[in-house]
Formats: sequence, structure tokens, C-alpha cells
Amino acid sequence: MAIATINPATGETLRTFQALDPTQLESKLQLAHDTYQTYRHTSFADREPLMLRAAKLIEDEKRMLAELMTMEMGKPFKAAIAEAEKCAWVCGYYAEMAQSFLSDREVETEATRSYIRFEPIGPVLAVMPWNFPFWQVFRFAAPALMAGNVGLLKHASNVPQCSLAIEEIFLRAGFPLGAFQSLLIGSKEVEGILMDPRVAAATLTGSEPAGRSVASIAGKHIKKTVLELGGSDPFIVMPSANVKKAAEVAVKARTINNGQSCIAAKRFIIADSIYDEFVAEFVSGMKRLKVGDPMDDSTDIGPLATKQIVDELDEQVQRAISSGARLLTGGHKIDGPGNFYEPTVLDNLDPETLVSCEEIFGPVATVFKVQSLDHAIRIANITSFGLGSAAWTSDSNEQQELVERIEAGSVFINGMVASDPRLPFGGVKNSGYGRELSEFGIREFVNIKSVWIGG
Ligand code: NAP
Repeated sequence: MAIATINPATGETLRTFQALDPTQLESKLQLAHDTYQTYRHTSFADREPLMLRAAKLIEDEKRMLAELMTMEMGKPFKAAIAEAEKCAWVCGYYAEMAQSFLSDREVETEATRSYIRFEPIGPVLAVMPWNFPFWQVFRFAAPALMAGNVGLLKHASNVPQCSLAIEEIFLRAGFPLGAFQSLLIGSKEVEGILMDPRVAAATLTGSEPAGRSVASIAGKHIKKTVLELGGSDPFIVMPSANVKKAAEVAVKARTINNGQSCIAAKRFIIADSIYDEFVAEFVSGMKRLKVGDPMDDSTDIGPLATKQIVDELDEQVQRAISSGARLLTGGHKIDGPGNFYEPTVLDNLDPETLVSCEEIFGPVATVFKVQSLDHAIRIANITSFGLGSAAWTSDSNEQQELVERIEAGSVFINGMVASDPRLPFGGVKNSGYGRELSEFGIREFVNIKSVWIGG
């Protein structure tokens, strides 16, 4: 894939970039290695003001950063501003909390003193996706830098200007040259970086095939990985729920970020007694969404990030219809320039067919009717993914059962799944492993060293 900014709202190529040549890449890897030798010895008190300055820069420049995001991947401008604000939040959060998450822990044993020490591990490669081009990077970078690691970013090829802007934020915040570098490279270069002894570990947020590839190469070289992969999150509504509210949130949960979120609700699993009521509300909500120019504040859904994504989405919709799905609204690409797709709702699908279980990355919802809680949980767990999940019920026994039995990295009751710096984020099954955010995220890329001192 060429490294380029192509405006998804118009299809216009705005800027192309030359990938790093082998000599340039080598000098960046060496710089990461050299910087790490000194940066690792800085204290939390040294790092904290730098991270707070990064937060301030993002907050001050959020409109400009949001314009970059919208121009490169098409999310509505107002959502891009919210994304920038969340990045400032995670920088502030780890600036404040890193020391308490990583300070020495005394443990009583037979030794005179024994304790646990958390040490940085070195340069970490982050392979990142375009869908939240700032948030995905900052939620890796803020804890990594506060832990004393240095970062190397291989961002998605369609968001090079976001990638460069992030590097610049850290530099302007005062982090040393080499603490966080953006590598403009194609995915073929990732293998060489993973094999390089100067690189300690890798994190990847993206698709399952990319995750399998990075994890297997890193595994061969005994390097730790964290994988944040795809999802096909269930959104269950039981009879005791506030159906109107659930349907309203369902529209948002499916279409956030133009429907291109790993934790978007994708499969709506609805109890039969409230099925018609929910579907009527949900479909009318989806019909009301305004699709159009992402820079316009009244727009709910902008273009999808690339032409290929629209084509793949349409292929999934047509495949579902030809396998018997009923089209309740939408179902087509929107003519004209740009990668626009109609908000779409399908029901009457067999929950076990491929199209019901695979990830649908766009504003397309599938709805399933169930006879019981047990049936709902069975369908929720039917896919190979296990990222997030949401369920609506006011019955506390049902809530407990859902919390215990849903196979996912998170369960949200009477709300929609969202990431939050204070809570761990990640998946089970083919959605990946490891956690980001909270105290668990910052401990992924550290050496948890046991220290035992005798008398
Ligand atoms: P993608 O095609 O896997 O790309 C993600 C990143 O991986 C890009 O930087 C890409 O580079 C790189 N890449 C692709 N194939 C690779 C390979 N074989 N080896 C090394 N690097 C490779 O995914 P995407 O389409 O950008 O993002 C959408 C996916 O990300 C969805 O499945 C979504 O659910 C998932 N996602 C997960 C989370 C989470 O936290 N679990 C969050 C957001 C998104 P190029 O651009 O150069 O190809």
C-alpha cells in the first residue's frame, strides 16, 4: 500500500510520501537504541512534566490535529476533536499514575528484604491502524514512555501525516530525540524490525491476519507482543430493559467512527417479546443519520477510510442478502465521489453463517431474535472474537449471568462499550491478548524483576 494521504470524502490524493530507505531505517533504529540507554535512567519526576506538556500541546492544538484525522481517514470532525481530547486525557492520566503503578512493591519472605521492581525493557515497535489514528497510538505511547521505554511507530499507510504529527508532539513536549519516532514504512519492513536485536517487543492493533503475522515473527525471536485485533461485539437487549434507550444507544454504538471501530456493537441480539419494538426504533434511528461531509458539524457519518473498505463492506452485505437476510434499510454504496455507504440494517440471518460471525467494519448492523437469555449468550459467544460486549437488562440475576458467561474482554451492562484510561482494554479468543490502559497496560512492557537480599 502506498504511503499517502487520500481524502476519503473526495477520493483526491493530497500528498504522497517516500518510504524510508534501508539506511534511514537503520539510523532510526540505532537512535532508538542509543536514546534508550540514557532515557531508561530518567526518573518519573523527569518524565512527568514532558508528558503533561504533550497533553497540553494536544489540548491547545486539537482543532488542527482533528483536521488531519478527518482529512486522512474521514471521521466526523467533532469526533476527531473528541479523540484528541481523549489523547490529552491519557497523557495526563499516565503522567500522574505511572509512578504508583510502577514503584517497588515490598514482599515479605525469609529474606532480609525482598521486593518487586518494574524496569523498562527497551524500544517497543507499535504497529497501528488508521481508525483511531491518534488514540490508538497515544494509549500505547503514554504508558510506554512513562515506563522508560522508547517507541517506534509503524502507522497505517493511509495516515502518514497523523503519524508525523504525533512524533512532533513528543519532540516539542521535550522528550529526547529518539524517544518516539515515526517510521514511514510499508508492512513488509515490519519483519526486519521485529528480528532486530535492538527492538525488545511489539504491540499491534489491527486485523487478525496482521496480528498472526507479527505475533509469529516476534514469537520466533522470543519477543513479547500485545495484540488488539478485531471484534464482532454483541449488543443484547432483554425484555426488562429500557427498549427505547437501548435502541438509541444501539444506533450510536454501531455507527461510532463511521462504523469502523473494533468495539462497535455489531450484532444486535434481541429478546423476541420486544423484538418488533426494538427493531422499529433502531431502524428509524439508523434512517435519521445524516451521511455526508465529515467537516460539517451536522454530519453523523462520514466516508469510510478507503475505497477497498466500501467494496468489502458492500460484498458482505450482498452476500448476507443472497444467503437469505432481510434488508430493513440501506444496503448500497452512495453514488458520487468519496467512500460513502448507507446506514444499513439486516435481520433474518443464520447466526452461524460466516457473514454473521465475521467482523463488519462499517455502518451495517445485523439483528438476531432470541427466545431466552441462554439463547442470547449462546449467539453472543458464537464468533471467534471476544473483544467487548454490551447487554441491557434491569434484572440483577440476568446481569450477573451475562457478566459471568460472555466470552469477552469487557462487559458493559446498560451502556455501550468504550475505552477508558482507568479500565483495562483488550480481548480474548481471536480478538488478541494482553491489555492496554490502566495499571495492567503499563505493566505489559516492563521487566517485573524479583529482588531477594539475604542477611
Ligand atoms: P490492518 O490492515 O491489520 O492494519 C493495521 C496495521 O498493521 C497497519 O499499520 C498495517 O500497515 C499493518 N499491517 C498490515 N498487515 C501487516 C502484516 N502482515 N505485517 C505487519 N504489519 C501489517 O488493519 P486496519 O484495516 O488498519 O484496521 C482495522 C482492524 O483493526 C479491524 O479489524 C479492527 O477491529 C482492528 N482494531 C482493533 C482494535 C483493538 O483495540 N482491538 C482497535 C482498533 C482497530 P499498512 O497500512 O501499511 O498495511
